[in-house]
Amino acid sequence: MKYQSIAIDGPSGAGKSTLAKYLADTLGFLYVDTGAIYRTLGLHVCRMKLDPTDGRRVMEALASIRITLAHSETGGQRMYLNGEDVTDAIREHQISWYASRVSAIPEVRTFLLEMQRQFAREGNVVMDGRDIGTVVLPQADLKIYLTASPEDRARRRYLELLERGQKAEPAQVLRDVLERDRQDVERETAPLRQAADAVVLDTTGIGLEESFQRALTLARKTLDL
Ligand code: C5P
Repeated sequence: MKYQSIAIDGPSGAGKSTLAKYLADTLGFLYVDTGAIYRTLGLHVCRMKLDPTDGRRVMEALASIRITLAHSETGGQRMYLNGEDVTDAIREHQISWYASRVSAIPEVRTFLLEMQRQFAREGNVVMDGRDIGTVVLPQADLKIYLTASPEDRARRRYLELLERGQKAEPAQVLRDVLERDRQDVERETAPLRQAADAVVLDTTGIGLEESFQRALTLARKTLDL
C-alpha cells in the first residue's frame, strides 16, 4: 500500500511544527518532528561535554545511545534518550545550538535518515525539518516551504521561550535565529533549501490561522483524501 506524505521544510521559527501538527491532526496523519531527533542527540552531546563539531566522537556517541520516539493519543511526539523522556529537556535554548552543530555532520545525517524514512513507509505522515522535501522524502506528495522574516521568527521564538519560563533577550534571540539560518543554509550536507517542487508559504505578517487554512487548502487539492 502506498502511503501519502507531506514534507514541511523551512528555517527555524517559521512555525513548521505548529502547522505540521495541525495538518496531521486534521488529516489523521502521523506527525513526525525530525528536529527533535537532532535535538536529542544534541542533548546527549551537551551532557557528555563533547565537542559537537567532532564528527568521530559524536558518531561514537550516537552509536552507543538509543534514540526513540513515541506518539501519544493526542498526536504529540515524545522523545526518549536511552529510555529517559527528554521531550522537555531538548527544548532548552542551548540545545538548539548543539542540535544545529551535530546536524551538520554528514555521517550523523546518514545514520538518522533511515529512522525518518521508516515512518513514511508505515503510514501517512506530515514530517517537518530542513531537508524533508529534498533528501528524506523526495517523493512526498506535497512539499511546503514555510518561511517568514527573521524578525517575525525571532519574535515568535522569544514568546515561546517566555511561555516556557526561560529567560531570553529579544536581540539575542534574533542573533541566534540568524546564526542558525546561516548554519543550516551553509552546511555542505543536506543544507536548508527549498525543493524545486515545493510550494512556498510565507507567513510574515499573517496569523497562524490563515497559514493553516492555506496549507489545508493545498493538502486537499494535492492529496488523495
Ligand atoms: O526544527 P528544530 O529547530 O527543532 O531543529 C533543531 C536543529 O536541527 C535545526 O537548527 C537544524 O540544524 C537541525 N535539523 C536538521 N534537519 C532536519 C531537522 C532539524 O538539520 N530535518
